[in-house]
Amino acid sequence: MRMILVGPPGAGKGTQAARLVDKYGIPHISSGDMLRAAVKAGTELGVTADRYMKAGQLVPDDVVIGMILERIAAPDCAKGFMLDGFPRTIPQAEALDAAMTKAGVAIDVVLLFEVPDALIVERGVGRRNDPITGRIYHIKFDPPPAEVTERLVHRKDDHEAAINERLHYYHDWTAPIMPFYEGKGLLRRVDGVGTPDEVSARVVKALA
Ligand code: ADP
Ligand code: ADP
Repeated sequence: MRMILVGPPGAGKGTQAARLVDKYGIPHISSGDMLRAAVKAGTELGVTADRYMKAGQLVPDDVVIGMILERIAAPDCAKGFMLDGFPRTIPQAEALDAAMTKAGVAIDVVLLFEVPDALIVERGVGRRNDPITGRIYHIKFDPPPAEVTERLVHRKDDHEAAINERLHYYHDWTAPIMPFYEGKGLLRRVDGVGTPDEVSARVVKALA
């Protein structure tokens, strides 16, 4: 299964991905997580990416495309993968398509999580990440247990200004890739409003 998860920042892609990887046993490849790891490691790629990420802007296509195409060529992706946060622009979608064609494989499904802009800021500012387990919490919608709160990370781009900037980029650059996948008959829209369990149930239906 080769799957893509798309949707605005904070739509719940990471939350749903964590549930799906257990079910499908395929690697979860989050471009944002990979970029944050590169920033933390201080690699050349990370230093470049950091400038854009802090401001809520998109990292240049060539940087992200190279990183993701290399990752999905790894042996653990031979049977499938779940891309989360990539592609985010038309050139990224085209580069992925070309790489798939060259490898003689294809994307099976694109899940689009739809959440109105009005909910996005609240989801983003309340997000907290556990650096040890990778678990995603929300201070109001999915509160963390007391014993982990100390170690939780509040991403530096999860404040209102950067979230609004990311939302602009989503509408201007990412939303236009949907017709590309719709034209191929791969796009499945999932209503992302409701509890994580309700959204999971819709995902299961969309994949059936
Ligand atoms: P969210 O889904 O909350 O927006 P991500 O973790 O997917 O967050 O991405 C965080 C940041 O990493 C983005 O704002 C952007 O700067 C960068 N990024 C992630 N994926 C891509 C991508 N495919 N293309 C360009 N930049 C990306
Ligand atoms: P994305 O990967 O799309 O950026 P996340 O999965 O990180 O989004 O979710 C963003 C925030 O919203 C997190 O704090 C998460 O706990 C919370 N969240 C995820 N799904 C839901 C939901 N269905 N209802 C309420 N909050 C949610």
